[in-house]
Amino acid sequence: MKELEDRIRQDGIVKAGNVLKVDAFLNHQCDVELFDHMGAEWARLFEGANINKILTIEASGIGIACIAAQHFGNVPVVFAKKAQSINLDGEQYATTIYSFTKKREYPVIVGRRFLNPDDHVLIIDDFLANGCALEGLITIVESAGATVEGIGIAIEKGFQGGGDKLRERGYHVESLARLVSMDCETGELTFA
Ligand code: 5GP
Repeated sequence: MKELEDRIRQDGIVKAGNVLKVDAFLNHQCDVELFDHMGAEWARLFEGANINKILTIEASGIGIACIAAQHFGNVPVVFAKKAQSINLDGEQYATTIYSFTKKREYPVIVGRRFLNPDDHVLIIDDFLANGCALEGLITIVESAGATVEGIGIAIEKGFQGGGDKLRERGYHVESLARLVSMDCETGELTFA
């Protein structure tokens, strides 16, 4: 998606450790018009898929997922919550996710009443790097007996391999901007 790539080139900052900072428009200050165009693009890419719910993860996924939902017939958006600990009271689907940016594991939960076996879910997230966050979200969808219809990502760092692993497993992954490399010394970004 050229508009997103141009915006990343304009406002993205490449940090050490393969981290791209996009807090000027995506995950701190939010450019809602850009989010709207991203939602329209995901709707085009997943046209014909039978999607009745969007699942994302707090906090950065919530804004893009809610705007995207307007392009999927205003389907409900559920976000996985980052919990302090997993309380196995049977009310929640739970798993743990290794955080690329924080370099530690954390538990995530989704209330059982918000995911059912008849749900056809589009998972949306801001970044795809090694794929750990998505593995966790897929685990949650599958523990509910629901179906992952597709995975919509804003920025995929293709050089970290998570997207290819998920595609090899048969998931329909669509990334709006796919980086093949980035250089924290020069700030240079190369898109697929
Ligand atoms: P993964 O689990 O695929 O390794 O990483 C994805 C998660 O880590 C995303 O939910 C995102 O929050 C965070 N993340 C990964 N790489 C980056 C990055 O370069 N910049 C930012 N801002 N977040 C990232």
